[in-house]
Amino acid sequence: MIPISSWGRLTALPHQVVSFSNLSKVSAAISASKQGIAFGNGRSYGDSCLNPGGVLWSTRGLGHLIAFDRDSGILSCEAGVLLRDIQSLVVPEGWMLPVTPGTQLITVGGAIANDVHGKNHHLLGSFSDHVTRIKLIRTDGEIIECGPNQKQDWFAATVGGIGLTGLIVEAELQLKRVPGPWLETETIPYSDLSSFFKCADESEVGWEHTVSWIDCLAGSGGRGLFMRGNPVADNTRSVPLTKKSSMPFVPPISLVNKLSLRLLNEAYYWLNKRKSSKQIVHFQPFFYPLDNLQNWNKMYGPRGFYQYQSVVPRDVGQDAVNEMLKEIGRSGQGSFLAVLKTFGDRRSVGMLGFPQPGVTLALDFPNNGRRTTELLDRLDRIVSDAKGRIYLAKDARMSRALFESSYPRFQEFLKYRDSGMSSAMSRRLLGS
Ligand SMILES: Cc1cc2nc3c(=O)[nH]c(=O)nc-3n(C[C@H](O)[C@H](O)[C@H](O)COP(=O)(O)OP(=O)(O)OC[C@H]3O[C@@H](n4cnc5c(N)ncnc54)[C@H](O)[C@@H]3O)c2cc1C
Repeated sequence: MIPISSWGRLTALPHQVVSFSNLSKVSAAISASKQGIAFGNGRSYGDSCLNPGGVLWSTRGLGHLIAFDRDSGILSCEAGVLLRDIQSLVVPEGWMLPVTPGTQLITVGGAIANDVHGKNHHLLGSFSDHVTRIKLIRTDGEIIECGPNQKQDWFAATVGGIGLTGLIVEAELQLKRVPGPWLETETIPYSDLSSFFKCADESEVGWEHTVSWIDCLAGSGGRGLFMRGNPVADNTRSVPLTKKSSMPFVPPISLVNKLSLRLLNEAYYWLNKRKSSKQIVHFQPFFYPLDNLQNWNKMYGPRGFYQYQSVVPRDVGQDAVNEMLKEIGRSGQGSFLAVLKTFGDRRSVGMLGFPQPGVTLALDFPNNGRRTTELLDRLDRIVSDAKGRIYLAKDARMSRALFESSYPRFQEFLKYRDSGMSSAMSRRLLGS
């Protein structure tokens, strides 16, 4: 048994880790095992990839690329392949993952099981909109192949299904053509939420990637920086050398606190406001700004941190976000990595998929015990009143009642659940 944490580092409880490196051994191993759950690269913040006291099936060893057709952009791979490895192979060939989250250090299995989204949801939806086939092994030995045109019900259960329908062992993806690794980007400072929404609306046509950082300590105004980008051809540049650094130790207390946050937010806003012009940037720093600081999650100290990501419908979005910012301001707690963006008019095909039309706010809070969880409970009420939902990939504490009311397809999902799979999250939200 070894202690395992997810990215939020809220717990480090013992798990029995079973690592796979050979596809042909998976079926027998999971059939013979006690209840378990897949563990990709542990980049989920909460408890979806944890099973304290029980088994974790680590999939990183299932890391083989199976085939890549340079003409059609169809790639098939095992589920433990990292998005980073796909990007390194295909970008030089003029292809890219159509949808990619804020880190490329996640597995294909994890990307499907949370149906992750990127900065271009308004144009290209979420990760699974580009998955053409999934191969799933169930703990009773059954093998299921599903996709958008094959066993669609199994596909809809597995996409966003937080690992509970079986172990995803292989996937086939349709990549997107790009002119190269570069993006033409623009940063636009905004001083209140209405300017954010105006900018987001204007950018939906003509800009593929949009995202914004919001200063949640600036009062209810909601100043921030709106960033947008489009792929662009540029043969004159060479790929920048990346310098990797690492958070070398866990500080005794969180380095993110009230004082440091105010300074960080102030500095980040003014530094980027000064640079606010058009730039050509490599896709890596634009999509994955934190990937070069390894273990950055340690800066929150030994008690870890909560990520809180919600989506609320667009018609009540401004009021709900405003209320959340006020609540955060009143609590005296704040978030540096605060991201606000709009989703387009499509829902995840997944029964438990997160994306839905609206506006999504992602925040992180150092774990200050009850003070923090009580703030999150108050944010839950705002989200629930607005008929929104919380993202399972980030969640470690939402109530079962909120889950059931905001994920109305959960009962339909239960029919596809593999009874040999269970996680801390499934026990908390589904009762087993
Ligand atoms: C810096 C950072 C930025 C992020 N930005 C975004 C973002 O922009 N958009 C977004 O949507 N998410 C984002 N995330 C969240 C992250 O993309 C998801 O949590 C993702 O699912 C993590 O994948 P993983 O491989 O680490 O899987 P894990 O975290 O290990 O597991 C996640 C879930 O997938 C299941 N799973 C994993 N592999 C398999 C498999 N082979 N078969 C069946 N189930 C499996 C697990 O059981 C678990 O339920 C971010 C995370 C970080 C740390």
